[in-house]
Amino acid sequence: MTENKLWSRRRVIAASCQLSAALLLSPALATAQQASTKRRLRWQNWAGNQKSLPQHIAVPRSEDDIIKLLRDSSGEIRPMGSGHSWSGLVPSDGTLLSLDRLKGLISHDANTLQAEVWSGTKLFAYGPMMAEIDQAIINMSDINYQSMAGAISTSTHGTGNELGCISSFVSELQLITPDGESIRCSAEKNTDLFNAARNGLGVLGVITRLRFQNREKHRLHQQTWLADIEATLDNIEQLNRDNEQFELFPLPNSDKTLVVVTNPAQAGAADQITNNPDALADMEKLFNLSNKLPALSQSVYNMGLEMAVRGIEHRIGPSYDVLAHPRTTLFIEMEYTVPADLGVDCLREVLQTIRDKAPEVAFPLEYRYVKGDDTMIGMFSDQDGCSISVHQFAKYPKWRDYLATIEPVFWKYGGRPHWGKWHSLTDQSLASLYPNWQQFKTIRQELDPKGRMLNSYLRELLGEA
Ligand SMILES: Cc1cc2nc3c(=O)[nH]c(=O)nc-3n(C[C@H](O)[C@H](O)[C@H](O)COP(=O)(O)OP(=O)(O)OC[C@H]3O[C@@H](n4cnc5c(N)ncnc54)[C@H](O)[C@@H]3O)c2cc1C
Repeated sequence: MTENKLWSRRRVIAASCQLSAALLLSPALATAQQASTKRRLRWQNWAGNQKSLPQHIAVPRSEDDIIKLLRDSSGEIRPMGSGHSWSGLVPSDGTLLSLDRLKGLISHDANTLQAEVWSGTKLFAYGPMMAEIDQAIINMSDINYQSMAGAISTSTHGTGNELGCISSFVSELQLITPDGESIRCSAEKNTDLFNAARNGLGVLGVITRLRFQNREKHRLHQQTWLADIEATLDNIEQLNRDNEQFELFPLPNSDKTLVVVTNPAQAGAADQITNNPDALADMEKLFNLSNKLPALSQSVYNMGLEMAVRGIEHRIGPSYDVLAHPRTTLFIEMEYTVPADLGVDCLREVLQTIRDKAPEVAFPLEYRYVKGDDTMIGMFSDQDGCSISVHQFAKYPKWRDYLATIEPVFWKYGGRPHWGKWHSLTDQSLASLYPNWQQFKTIRQELDPKGRMLNSYLRELLGEA
């Protein structure tokens, strides 16, 4: 049986009513209050867990403006993209530098399927812009709010055994160093700097232009359904083999997972894209309701999920529309990438740890595969990876305790933290995970000996405190 809407509001309500009746309870209504404080030049990231009070926010119109700014100013300066990182990469009480005015297509080549864009171009604009020249990004994250420079500075990725992260699609870039020198980098020219800057954390200078290797414009068909987690994990090799892209959203404290597969759409298939911004809230409601009867909570939750999540959700359309999903609920995320062949064992241990130590958590995990690359310190540097994300609603102040409880599991499997997501690792531990860590630090020190592109978080991360 197929049905377009995986999470049907009607079915969630029906399932909730049945569970409520069974438990003689009614679901509680949550109210949220938002406080806002008005201050001059106040910056915060998407989730609100990173904040700063910048002295200046510079929004240059040209590369010359950036060179002048770097040469004529003093003090801390941090490039920013769209503020979609949970780690402290951006915050600056000095100068924040936005490339929002440097956006759009610079040039393209129909034979090589390459295109050069200004690095402030947002991912949501990149898709339609490339479609106009019959090209498309090879793969992307499951959101599209980031700037291209922000995305490649942290090895932002999607899923796909044979598909790399966005940094690995960069074929050339223009970098303005902290002392104002403009340098062209590629695999052939300034190679070390090229490999470092494709996951440069914004500490090597300001990236102004990016040339990407694209693929032909294409349409995708994404299908999502609910399944038993253990049976799915036993079948993971086949799911990976049979689909261009495959990922899971395991539902903690249940026996279930959402399975998502994405493949080329059939010729002539009509557009079909539905988004359900209520899905997370609905899932949490079911979970909380099930927890009213602790002794049976897991089986009641499984039952509720089976009642509420039925059939297969289909998304068909241009690749950039199918892969990007709106995210309206604020949450905090930690993600570690373990060697691809350790992914299943690591996920099983994470799920067991949540059962043992965090029975109150309902927020789904995310489980993806990404092909290895030749960046200097990207999460996929020299190894195919399996990325496992753990999240909690930003509205719960104890999100940090939850993530810290799970984090040591990833360390056992040699996990590398996503640079843009919350984690607690610093210099020494990172050196043991990245063979090129010292080389990256040396390049940074040569380019910026005074460390003006470092904030306090980055100083600690890089061991330069
Ligand atoms: C809801 C949500 C969903 C997400 N989904 C995914 C996902 O599916 N996959 C994934 O891998 N990640 C995901 N992320 C993480 C996100 O892709 C990364 O953190 C990304 O780096 C954010 O890009 P940004 O444009 O917001 O950059 P910012 O967060 O503003 O900055 C990130 C880094 O880029 C640097 N930078 C920005 N512009 C420049 C420049 N011009 N020159 C040099 N350095 C620069 C900054 O200094 C900083 O170090 C998600 C984040 C959120 C909030």
